Amino acid sequence: RKMYEDLKRVLQESEHIVFFGGAGVSTESNIPDFRSQSGIYSKKTYPYPAEVMISHDFFVTHPKEFYDFYFSEMVYENAQPNPAHIALAKLEEMGKLDAIVTQNIDGLHQKAGSKHVLELHGSIHRNRCSGCHRFYTLEEMKENRKEGIPVCPHCGKILKPEVVLYGEALDNAVVEESIRCIAQADTLIVGGTSLVVYPAAGLLQYFKGKHLILINKDMTSMDHKADIIIHDPIGEVLKEVASSIFSSSSAPSLRMLSKVQLGTKF
Ligand code: ZN
Repeated sequence: RKMYEDLKRVLQESEHIVFFGGAGVSTESNIPDFRSQSGIYSKKTYPYPAEVMISHDFFVTHPKEFYDFYFSEMVYENAQPNPAHIALAKLEEMGKLDAIVTQNIDGLHQKAGSKHVLELHGSIHRNRCSGCHRFYTLEEMKENRKEGIPVCPHCGKILKPEVVLYGEALDNAVVEESIRCIAQADTLIVGGTSLVVYPAAGLLQYFKGKHLILINKDMTSMDHKADIIIHDPIGEVLKEVASSIFSSSSAPSLRMLSKVQLGTKF
C-alpha cells in the first residue's frame, strides 16, 4: 500500500510523465501476448513458429499463411481500452503526461483518447499498398481480400500492415521521438513489460528524470533501478492511483470518462 501512496504523490508532483508500455497493457483488454505461452498458439496450431510467421521473409514468400495467422492471432479489432489506457489518456489531458511509448500495435491508447502515442512496433490500423503506397484502414484492408490476401482496389498489389515484422527495422523517426520524450521526462512509468524485448531496455537508458516507476505483474531486469515497484496488474494500479488524482481536480470522473471513450470511433 505504501507504494501506491508513493505513486500518487509522484504523479501529483510530476509535470512531464512518459509512459512506456508493453504487452501487459493490452492483455488486460483480452489481447493475448503473442510472446507468452498462453498467448499465440492457443487458438489453433500452425506449421511454423510465430517468429517465422510474422517475419518479413514469410510475408513475402507465404502471404496467404501470413495473413491467416495475422488476422486470427494479431488483430483484435473489437478490443476495448481498459482502465490503464483510460487513466493515461486522462493524465495527458490534464497536461501531466507528454507521451506514451508503446510496443503494442492495437491502437487502444488512441481509442481511449490519447494523442501523443509513439508506436514502436507500428499499428494494425495503418496499412499501405506495396504498389501505389495508398493508405488503408483495417476495415478497408479486410474488405479487399482476395483468397485471404488483402490487395489494393486501385492497383491490385498486395497490402502490407505498418506493423514491424521480424527482420524489419523500427521506424527511426518514432525511435528518435521516443528517446527525446524519455530524455525530457521528469517521471518515467514502465508498465506491462518485463523489459526483455528489444528495444525496451535500451530506450530506458535515456531517462534522466527523478522517478522511475515499474508496474508489472512479474519482476523485471530493471527492478533494482526503480524507486517505485508495484507487482500488480497495470490497469488495477493506474485506475486506483489516477482516480484519486482526478477526483482532486475539477476533471470528469474516471467512470464518466470511460463511458464517453468507449463509444468513441477510432
Ligand atoms: Zn495500390
